[in-house]
Amino acid sequence: LVPLPSAAAAAASWPNLDPAASTVDLKACMSRIQQEMYRDAAHQFPRSRILNHALEKYTRMHSRCALHADDSSAQMKTDCQYVVYLEGYEGLGNRLLSLVSAFAYALVTQRALVIDGRRGHLAQLLCEPFQNSSWLLPPQFVDEVIQGAASATLEDAMHSGFRNVNSVRVNLRHEQTRAEQRFFCPTTQQRLQNVTWIGWESNQYYVPRLFMIPSYWSLLSSWFPDASLVFNQLIRFLCLPQNHIWEQIQRIHVSYLSSSAVQVGMQVRRHLNANNATLAASVHDLIMNCSLKHQLLPKPVVPLEERGLLNGADKSGKSSRKTSVAVLVASLDMQYYEKLRNLYVEHDTEDGTVVSVHMMSHEGVENDSYEQAVKAMTEIWLLSFSNKLVTSSWSTFGYVAQGLGGLHPVILNFFTIDFEHETRPACILGQSREPCLHYPFVKHSVCGKVRMSKRQSKWIEHHIRPCQDENRGLQLC
Ligand code: GDP
Repeated sequence: LVPLPSAAAAAASWPNLDPAASTVDLKACMSRIQQEMYRDAAHQFPRSRILNHALEKYTRMHSRCALHADDSSAQMKTDCQYVVYLEGYEGLGNRLLSLVSAFAYALVTQRALVIDGRRGHLAQLLCEPFQNSSWLLPPQFVDEVIQGAASATLEDAMHSGFRNVNSVRVNLRHEQTRAEQRFFCPTTQQRLQNVTWIGWESNQYYVPRLFMIPSYWSLLSSWFPDASLVFNQLIRFLCLPQNHIWEQIQRIHVSYLSSSAVQVGMQVRRHLNANNATLAASVHDLIMNCSLKHQLLPKPVVPLEERGLLNGADKSGKSSRKTSVAVLVASLDMQYYEKLRNLYVEHDTEDGTVVSVHMMSHEGVENDSYEQAVKAMTEIWLLSFSNKLVTSSWSTFGYVAQGLGGLHPVILNFFTIDFEHETRPACILGQSREPCLHYPFVKHSVCGKVRMSKRQSKWIEHHIRPCQDENRGLQLC
C-alpha cells in the first residue's frame, strides 16, 4: 500500500542489516520497514547507539547458534546457550509481554532466544525477528532437551546444587513456588550461568525484575536511557506482524482512521462479566467522563432541534466544522462502541469537531483460535498508531498497545465499578508507557539482601514504581 522505503530507512529498522540483503529479504516482513510511517513524529523513538550495537552483537550470535532440523545433536553448538520460549495458552497480551521479557533476558545473558513453533500462534503471527537465521527450534530439540527427562525444574536443580544440570524449565507465571520466585535472585542467576537450556514459561512482563539484578542493571540502564521505552524498543524490533496481517492493518488504518486529524484508540476490556444494562451504562459513563476530562473527545451538545434552534442551521459540514477525530474502539463487547457511536451520531459537538467511531471486531468471548489472535494483533497495532490512547485497568492487551505505541494512556479504572471499596480514582493518567508487572515477587524473604551500588539503588528508586492499577505491581518509569 505504500512504497518500499529507502535502503537507509530499512537499515535503521534492522541493526546490522546485511548490505547484501536483497529486497526479497526486506519484503518478507514489510512491517519492519514500514511501521514508522504510520506513527506521528512524537511517537518515533530511535534506539540508542549502544542498544543497536547490542542487537547487532546478538544477531551475530543468534545466527551462529541457530539450530536446524538436520543438526543431529545439541552438542554441535557447545559454545551456545539458549532461552526457549514456551508459549502458553493465555491471551495475546500476556504472551507478548512474556515473549519480550524472555528476549530481554536472552539479550542480557547472551543466550539465543528460540521458540517452539508448534505451540500457540506466535510463529504464525510474527515475522522471523533475526536476520539471516531462524528462531524456530526444531521439534526434536524441544522434545528431548526441554520436555524430556533430562530437563529439571528450578527446584530440582537447586536441590541438586545444579550438578549435571544442562536444562532447566522455569515457571514464571503469576503463580510460582518458593523456588520459582527465586529465579530473579542474583545467586540463582549465577548458578544458571552454566546451564545451556532455559525453558521459559510465563504470562508476565518480568523486565522490571531484570533491572533489579546488579550485573544486568548496568547493561540494561546503558541500553535504555529512557526507562519508559524498554518495551517499546524491544517489541518494535522483535514482534512484527507478518505480511498478511500487516496488509490488513494498513488497509483498515487508511480506510477508516488516517484521514482524521486526530486518532483516539479506546480499549475497553472488562474482566468481570458486565452483561447487565446498569453496569454497561456505568462503563459508558466512565469512558465519557475520562475522555472529556482529558480532552480526548469533544463535548457533545444537546441537538439543535431539541433546543429549538434548527432554523436554517448549516449541517453541510462546510462552515462550523473545525477538525475531525476518529475513534477506534477495541473490545470484545459491541455495546460500548454502539453507545459511543450513537452519542456522536445523535449530537453535535460543542466546538464543531466531527467524530467518527469505528470498531473492527466484537468477538464476544475470548477463545484460543488463530483467527481471534489475528484480530487481536491487528487491533493492538491499530491502537498503537493512535495519537491518544485510552486503556483498561489490569489489561495486558492494553499494556501492549500502549507500549508498542509509546503512549502514556488514560486508564479507565474499572475497579471503581466492580469493587465497592476501591479508593483509586476512576480515571488515571498513565505515569509510564511501560507495561505493569503484576506479580513481581520481591518480598525481602525471597532473595535476602541484594547488594547494590548506590547508583543502582537510586536509579531503582526513581525508575521503578508501584503500578497505578495494581499496588503490588511494578512498572518502569
Ligand atoms: P487481558 O486478558 O486483558 O490481560 O488481555 P490478553 O490479550 O492477555 O487476553 C485477552 C484475549 O481476549 C485477547 O488475546 C483476545 O483474544 C481477546 N480480546 C480481548 N479484548 C479484545 C479486543 O479488544 N479485540 C480483540 N480482537 N480481541 C480481544
